[in-house]
Amino acid sequence: MQTPNFMQAPSAVWDMGLLPVENNPDLIMDLQSFGMRIQEGTSEAPGRRGGAGPSDHKAILFGGRAAMVPIHTSTAKHSPFTATIPRADGLSILSRDGIPVGTIGFPKQPRFYALQTFDGIPYSQIAVLHAADVLATTVLQTCIRYNNRATSCQFCAIGQSLDAGRTIAHKTPEQLAEVARAAVLLDGVKHMVMTTGTPNNSDRGAAVLAESAFAVKSAVDLPVQAQCEPPNDDSWFQHMKDAGVDSLGMHIEAVTQDVRLRIMPGKAKVSLDRYMRAFEAASNVFGRGQVSTYILAGLGDSVEAILQMCEKLVALGVYPFVVPFVPISGTPLENHPAPKPEFMREILRPLGAMLASANLRSNEIKAGCGRCGACSALSSYEA
Ligand code: SF4
Repeated sequence: MQTPNFMQAPSAVWDMGLLPVENNPDLIMDLQSFGMRIQEGTSEAPGRRGGAGPSDHKAILFGGRAAMVPIHTSTAKHSPFTATIPRADGLSILSRDGIPVGTIGFPKQPRFYALQTFDGIPYSQIAVLHAADVLATTVLQTCIRYNNRATSCQFCAIGQSLDAGRTIAHKTPEQLAEVARAAVLLDGVKHMVMTTGTPNNSDRGAAVLAESAFAVKSAVDLPVQAQCEPPNDDSWFQHMKDAGVDSLGMHIEAVTQDVRLRIMPGKAKVSLDRYMRAFEAASNVFGRGQVSTYILAGLGDSVEAILQMCEKLVALGVYPFVVPFVPISGTPLENHPAPKPEFMREILRPLGAMLASANLRSNEIKAGCGRCGACSALSSYEA
């Protein structure tokens, strides 16, 4: 039989009876490292371009699991993976080096994207759909560190979507409540991630996250994760919880001080010691497994350094969400290589076992990136 080739007419390839690509952690890791090229012109849910933290991804459905795959990055332009324009039902053919691998799905454009506030702001400028069922917002789209190369996090693109007019600088509690309610009713979102640029050196965004969570929880029953730097005063943790925050993310991003200083010179001034004390205090408030951190692998930290940090975090009951670094276009790190799949495997395999033996599981997190898991293959290794 002739080897099927992506260069054949798409209808001929569809006729070959390709099977859906299942939830395969090795394939997901390859896709997240190499990225994927997609034919232009899709009308399906747009990928994340710019925004706080990692972005330039698109959500892909593998069986019942969603994974974020880089598509707008410089690495993705040379990826061996390609996908056809999704059909009306969201299905597309995934190929590797021109050979069809199987079918994948793209989430449909959420219905709440068609709505706007009374004053004419599209809901999609207030919050967006992440993966398949997560509502995500950056409450403050500005940051004390962003406009100065001496302090900004070099992977971050928080100002890009604002400059491009795809979002607004400050989402009010009322706007967030309105959009959250619509996203639950129209699209069945299951949890919400609220991140923020850092507005000051005292509460570091805890106050605005608390008032936002309070408004959302008053409008709709939706678990909320807040994400911020450690505030100066630990009493903010109880204040956020009382306001309705279910889970908290405080993201160290890199685990050794030399990498932190190189990649995020401003945020590195908040010491790792301060983070560890904040994790302990926050865990006492939110509970074991409800505090998490985001670690970007591939920025210079070794496998051993990342795993050692994860051991300390797991001992505190903190979920270490390790994700492959994605070089975002327009940032100082846009040409920094993404980590190789083998590097990610060396971390995620033992980390998955570590989490399983500590009984710290992503599916028990009430809300947030750890529960969503789409930016990493980590949760597939917890089983
Ligand atoms: S893991 Fe976090 S950043 Fe990634 S898609 Fe899910 S909610 Fe968004």
